[in-house]
Amino acid sequence: MQFKDIEGQQILANRLTEIIDSGRISHAQLFLGPTASGSLALAIAYAQYLGCENRQHFPEGSVLRADSCGQCPSCRKYAGLVHPDLHLVFPTTTTATVTSKPCADDFQEEFRSFMEEFGQRGTEDDWYERLGVENKQGMIRERDADNIIRTLGLKSYEGGYKVLVVWMAERMNVVTANTLLKTLEEPEGRTLLMLVAESRDRLLSTIVSRVQQVVVPDLGVGMSDARRAEFSALFVQWMRLLFKLNMKPLSDWVDKIAAAGRETQKLFLQYVQESLRACFLKTAAGISLGGELEFGDPKFDQAFPAMIAPRNIEQMNEALNEAMYAIERNANAKIAFMQLSFRMSRFLRKPAANN
Ligand SMILES: [Zn+2]
Repeated sequence: MQFKDIEGQQILANRLTEIIDSGRISHAQLFLGPTASGSLALAIAYAQYLGCENRQHFPEGSVLRADSCGQCPSCRKYAGLVHPDLHLVFPTTTTATVTSKPCADDFQEEFRSFMEEFGQRGTEDDWYERLGVENKQGMIRERDADNIIRTLGLKSYEGGYKVLVVWMAERMNVVTANTLLKTLEEPEGRTLLMLVAESRDRLLSTIVSRVQQVVVPDLGVGMSDARRAEFSALFVQWMRLLFKLNMKPLSDWVDKIAAAGRETQKLFLQYVQESLRACFLKTAAGISLGGELEFGDPKFDQAFPAMIAPRNIEQMNEALNEAMYAIERNANAKIAFMQLSFRMSRFLRKPAANN
């Protein structure tokens, strides 16, 4: 799986390849997003890029900044999901052919053909349909836990990273989740553990706190031009308020966004995250994601992107992720947006000298 084959997630793909190129690879990550958003495909593309012997970097202005080559021996094995250092774990159930104690190792071939057919769009329901068990709920069970331990204890076959991908990690039963937790507490050398999940709430909080989270944007909700125009106006207004920090108009702005539904609030935060990323790429890295950055206000378009730099982009991303998380968990929207505003304001106004 290469990043170029994943639709609609180029901004995130660029962030992921940047992380790998910079060598700041976290040994445990959680890719969080709806299954059809491409979260599993992104995790696999990430591992493939990490293992690629001939990473490709594209000229400035390209949509993707980098990708795996797709040609080297490691990439070819990844393409068929048959790389000996890639281990896939996913929920299973008993089926017509596996009638007791099912585990992911019993269904590797089915899973490969499922991935081949659905690519980034395969959902959990599609998977059960493939197994012929539409009405059953799969689990990740003790035998999977045993296999995880065995896998992580093995030496890497090819001298690189061992990669364990757990798809629909929220389907781990308690025993498996606790096994995984132990491996997170005592990470083995060059091991990359990638959990792919739709819901953070159904994972053990002790697991969530030990993994680096990668929020995968939902592609299911396409953004209409009207919505985009509405969001960009809100965005421009908000960023200006954060510079001046005038309490009365800021509080009015917070009231306005707090009155929108939770889904709209989350979408808006995603929009902000993507917009800041685009500003950052434009000014710091000189990469344009196609077309000019336009928020519908020429003065703002001209001056704002330069405010987003290495000194604040990651902190802002993190603050936005945390706000999305709070809103998902039904936090009070006014408080969440007010707190977020204060944090964002601080990061935005951080003097360039501190970098
Ligand atoms: Zn390669």
